[in-house]
Amino acid sequence: METKNCPYCSEEILKQAKKCKFCGEYIDEELRKERKQETVNEKPKEIVVTQKSSGLMTFLIILVIIILIGIITGL
Ligand SMILES: [Zn+2]
Repeated sequence: METKNCPYCSEEILKQAKKCKFCGEYIDEELRKERKQETVNEKPKEIVVTQKSSGLMTFLIILVIIILIGIITGL
């Protein structure tokens, strides 16, 4: 079987390989582009969602504390 060297980690892989078994990089350009777009699209969304939800949680906790203080002082 013909082999070539992985352009990313230089390990010997099969010439028809689409994905390197050593470093996990896609050798096939189309697959590589798809994967890059996926990772680019996924990561910022996750960060934004976590930041938003944690900010919302903090806001809700502060709101509950304010309401509780209002109830206690009102009684
Ligand atoms: Zn590799």
